[in-house]
Amino acid sequence: MYNAKAYSAASATSPLAHTTIARRDPTQTDVQIEILFCGICHSDLHTARDEWHSVMPTVYPCVPGHEIVGRVVKVGAAVSGFKPGDVVGVGCLVDSDGTCPECKAGLEQFCHAPVFTYNMPDKHTGKVTYGGYSDSIVVDQRFVLRVPANLSLAAAAPLLCAGITTYSPMRHWGVTMGKKVGVVGLGGLGHMGVKFAHALGAHTVVFTTSENKKADALRLGADEVVLSKNANEMAKHYGSFDFILDAVAADHDIGAYINLLRRDGNITLVGAPEKPLPVSAFSLIMGRRSLSGSPIGGIKETQEMLDFCGQHNITSDVEVIPMQKVNEAYERMLKQDVKYRFSIDMASLKAE
Ligand code: NAP
Ligand code: ZN
Repeated sequence: MYNAKAYSAASATSPLAHTTIARRDPTQTDVQIEILFCGICHSDLHTARDEWHSVMPTVYPCVPGHEIVGRVVKVGAAVSGFKPGDVVGVGCLVDSDGTCPECKAGLEQFCHAPVFTYNMPDKHTGKVTYGGYSDSIVVDQRFVLRVPANLSLAAAAPLLCAGITTYSPMRHWGVTMGKKVGVVGLGGLGHMGVKFAHALGAHTVVFTTSENKKADALRLGADEVVLSKNANEMAKHYGSFDFILDAVAADHDIGAYINLLRRDGNITLVGAPEKPLPVSAFSLIMGRRSLSGSPIGGIKETQEMLDFCGQHNITSDVEVIPMQKVNEAYERMLKQDVKYRFSIDMASLKAE
């Protein structure tokens, strides 16, 4: 074991603060990574504050962070694909059983025993996994990804969660040229959704509650922007969407969006609000519409997404912050005041 610097929450109500955590020494198949940047996902906040208690209670201390980009410093003897100096990424998954049908299909996100990057039992330490708000992490080579060389590292970090979580359902539901696609909520996930829908050639419409994000939505690739509080603007789109991605982090009226789907249209929830969302049976029945959800993506598809980003020069719009500003960043995220992802520069941990 060795010591790493990190920021952790001691309870659901305490701010994150500096701490030291023990990381395992790399095993034969492990890659040890010096973390350079880590994005701040709203899931980090949900977990740090135990907002998903009924589904995944938080174990404290909690070190969030699953949008990790860094440099390989050491590899185990059986590691073939990575060497010291490589620039790599780690997302929400750090292990899975590897033998079930889902894992064999490259869909580790559906494994019956996935190990998420934080707040999951850690077989190596007997504690829970600690995430990327840290200067170092050790991850099995199967869960380490390659970051295309042309991408800015700070701006590439959010691809590891916000990127794959929006790319995967868009590919699954056939977002392509000629399709009309909606993205609800212009936050970290939403702004990546807009970039992907646009790059895939769809007619892209952003739904936002924030009037001040309208110009940005167009700049990010939207063809149209709708203020979701304006019923007239919403009504114009009734029954017209092939696919809608809902990336809202809080309670909202999902029924208003189901009604915008055309026959056989699908709305996929990636946003994970704390409370259940009521759904009208009639809105789904009439038009044979469907509502589904989607969790992150498998490792193979995450690499495909990163390569797609490399080819199309897609990264996240980030505000780079030092680790010490994480609590302030959480409050700003709650006020919808992030454009459009915070990326923590881990060099800021060196002074602690
Ligand atoms: P974020 O950056 O905070 O963005 C959320 C956006 O939702 C906001 O920017 C805002 O967009 C909209 N919003 C917030 N409060 C709202 C309200 N009360 N009513 C309507 N709209 C509201 O969060 P994020 O990191 O993108 O994450 C979004 C959600 O996805 C979170 O719940 C997160 O846990 C979840 N998530 C799920 C997965 C998965 O695998 N499925 C992966 C990562 C994250 P506007 O200002 O444009 O209205
Ligand atoms: Zn996330």
